[in-house]
Amino acid sequence: VFSHVVRAPEDPILGVTVAYNKDPSPVKLNLGVGAYRTDEGKPLVLNVVRKAEQQLVNDRSRVKEYLPITGLADFNKLSAKLIFGADSPAIQENRVTTVQCLSGTGSLRVGAEFLARHYHQRTIYIPQPTWGNHPKVFTLAGLSVKTYRYYDPATRGLNFQGLLEDIGSAPSGAIVLLHACAHNPTGVDPTLQQWENIRKLMRSKGLLPFFDSAYQGFASGSLDSDAKPVRMFVADGGELLVAQSYAKNMGLYGERVGALSIVCRNADVAGRVESQLKLVIRPMYSNPPIHGASIVAFILKDRNLYNEWTIELKAMADRIISMRRQLFDALRARGTPGDWSHIIKQIGMFTFTGLNSAQVAFMTKEYHIYMTSDGRISMAGLSSKTVPHLADAIHAAVTR
Ligand code: PMP
Repeated sequence: VFSHVVRAPEDPILGVTVAYNKDPSPVKLNLGVGAYRTDEGKPLVLNVVRKAEQQLVNDRSRVKEYLPITGLADFNKLSAKLIFGADSPAIQENRVTTVQCLSGTGSLRVGAEFLARHYHQRTIYIPQPTWGNHPKVFTLAGLSVKTYRYYDPATRGLNFQGLLEDIGSAPSGAIVLLHACAHNPTGVDPTLQQWENIRKLMRSKGLLPFFDSAYQGFASGSLDSDAKPVRMFVADGGELLVAQSYAKNMGLYGERVGALSIVCRNADVAGRVESQLKLVIRPMYSNPPIHGASIVAFILKDRNLYNEWTIELKAMADRIISMRRQLFDALRARGTPGDWSHIIKQIGMFTFTGLNSAQVAFMTKEYHIYMTSDGRISMAGLSSKTVPHLADAIHAAVTR
């Protein structure tokens, strides 16, 4: 009965790893997936995560019962505090509802399904370009996806004018997806002044912000600084949604830990919104997994572990920044044609190199370097040892 099923293409991002795994070359390099690696090229489990897990395992009172539909209550409270700030007026006024979801992706999906059922405007504007999964998540949830200009290939920076024009001409009430920090794939973020302009414009038109916060702490190394854009939109008293992921900042990729928060007008509305979120979640996966959320709650609750976490997080962010510098220097040393300053200017895990798909294909074929065809490289997958190989490949690709 399934013989008519056609083979689907690999996911454009995860497919990079599939191709990488098949390559027998000893010099192969995977710069496709946005997962952190040490300078030895190894995946990293944070020390605080090991410590929290150890203590959780030793606590015999812990059981494996189902969590509520909305997840672990402590985890939800602490996640809201992490993104909105401990002194957030919205939290104090009880007008935030937070539900534990399956990492960032699951949080986006639950938020989108809620909007498709209960919000009057079904159109969501996403940046051009954006993370490849965004349009699929929103379309399948029942929203209609449009794009706003974001990246300017000429400056390899923000197309701020284009962004304002496109958001400014969106229909009143439309949803706008915003990357809270460390925009993926471009590594280009608005300045705080630009965020303020975006906020004013959006509020004046009654547009609904939906923040995707997948890299809090990874852009600047500071959890509070990276949350500033979100907090600006909370401080004005308006409504918004935020999808949070602990994949990158706690290295909990495969544990699938995240949260969706919806900031509402008042506590009564927040309660009703939460009751409807339960109706979205229950038939989807019933309730979320307990292990990863327990680790996060354990760390966020304990002052010492929290402080240790911020130090480990900063170390990851700093290593990425140092890779940017090393790659930039290596290209300069080779006299590679072009202005490569965007490598050090861009923010977060990725560099949007400006290499085209033919150059990327060349680098894969000749140098066994794997990356997405849009020229995005994960700086987190790079190490001091592999920088020269990548610089050689880029040099060869652009001088060919
Ligand atoms: N949003 C953005 C912008 C991302 O880059 C990612 C991860 N690549 C996610 C959301 C979701 O990641 P996860 O579901 O693993 O938390």
